[in-house]
Amino acid sequence: MEILKIDHLGIAVNSIDDGKNFWSDVLGLSFQGTDTVEAQKVITAFFPVGESEVELLESTSPDGPVAKFIEKKGTGFQHVAFRVANIEDALKELKEKGIQLIDQQPRIGAGGAKIAFLHPKATGGVLVELCER
Ligand code: ZN
Repeated sequence: MEILKIDHLGIAVNSIDDGKNFWSDVLGLSFQGTDTVEAQKVITAFFPVGESEVELLESTSPDGPVAKFIEKKGTGFQHVAFRVANIEDALKELKEKGIQLIDQQPRIGAGGAKIAFLHPKATGGVLVELCER
């Protein structure tokens, strides 16, 4: 598998409106609007940082994955996303290595990227996302 870079860091927030104050007003990162991914019950906002980005995640529903994460662990760092050259190849390779996946097939995430999550049990506790755009 070819990992190209850290694409983004995902951070769970209760509210993007409140959460973005630190990232945009204090750190001066550029707020580029939000994107709603209904299938994942999440609103995202990406803030470019050099070659990577910070992604804020706000749940649209109490039973969404981000709401459940916040319930268990609180707000804050939620996942790291690696950009890969070919996500299908990467998932195939991980399956061959016996790595537990949350997504067996890529799905469409924020901004139309192809994404897939690895299970934190397989990574030492970190939620890892692969993405191809
Ligand atoms: Zn992400």
